[in-house]
Amino acid sequence: MLAVLKSGISRCEIEELKSAIEKCGCIVRESTEEGRCILGLIGENAAQAVGELNSTGCVEELKEVQEPYKLANRRFKQGNTVVSVKNGTVGGAKLAIMAGPCSVESEEQIVDIARKVKACGAGFLRGGAFKPRTSPYSFQGLKQQGLELLKIARQETGLPIVTEIMSADRIGEFVDNVDIIQVGSRNMQNFELLKELGRTKTPVLLKRGFSATIEELLMSAEYIMAGGNENVILCERGIRTFETYTRNTLDLSAIPAIKRLSHLPIIVDPSHAAGHWWMVEPLSKAAIAVGADGLMIEVHSDPENAQCDGPQSIKPERFRDLMEGLSSIACFEKRVI
Ligand code: PEP
Ligand code: MN
Repeated sequence: MLAVLKSGISRCEIEELKSAIEKCGCIVRESTEEGRCILGLIGENAAQAVGELNSTGCVEELKEVQEPYKLANRRFKQGNTVVSVKNGTVGGAKLAIMAGPCSVESEEQIVDIARKVKACGAGFLRGGAFKPRTSPYSFQGLKQQGLELLKIARQETGLPIVTEIMSADRIGEFVDNVDIIQVGSRNMQNFELLKELGRTKTPVLLKRGFSATIEELLMSAEYIMAGGNENVILCERGIRTFETYTRNTLDLSAIPAIKRLSHLPIIVDPSHAAGHWWMVEPLSKAAIAVGADGLMIEVHSDPENAQCDGPQSIKPERFRDLMEGLSSIACFEKRVI
């Protein structure tokens, strides 16, 4: 429910209204639209809170929010959310470029790639330590050792690190060591994990499940936000369709759709969408052209011998060319790279 307040309501009155809503057991969010203060009410007791508000005479209009996601809904917050991550941001004018190998393989490998992607302008280092693999016999990641190696790469380059969490029992370890916690496609609807992440303040990169609708993605974001963590970054990484030529089908339409429906930042992962390294550059350009706030790209110095996802990984030289090619599109979109 959205309560549009009458004009001329004082700050003191607004604060009183907010505490009355909270006393009813509701979450309240304040925003401004055309100079008007709007209070968003969420919770089972919203009707009771509305009764309280109406009795004050401060409310001009009440609007029902039809969508099941509330905190993630643009109707609850007009401006774009900008998530701060150490010395960087995701969702602001500067595009957030996250690059690195699918999985951390050794100190030499991760530090070398981190240095190279940083030199090309990447703002974040990605690398999997705990890997969700389709086969139990495939490389499962270096696990805790992988996290330690990512920390060394961060120390060497200053790049914030992004890595995937697979289970809630590791949240403490991730909060202490990682700058952005990635929730992979396969865990997008692991609601217990999302609830636990909601109790932290660490930014969460939430990847779209490969069979999830846009609304389901936003509902998963809502789980994290409802727990109190509003630092959520969405990621479109391709969805499963009848097409088999590509690993997934990059749903570019999700970007303008999510920009319309939500205030949360959204980035695109063209690597997992395409499954082919040579598609990464054109899809990256397309993603920025449709309004994505950044990219997550797999980069490997020796893709032929990568432990994981070599066929979709680009070499650092190609990443440099990609970054150069992106700058004019970024500029056209009034973004900086
Ligand atoms: C990854 O980023 O390495 C990954 C496994 O991605 P996704 O969850 O999108 O498959
Ligand atoms: Mn991968």
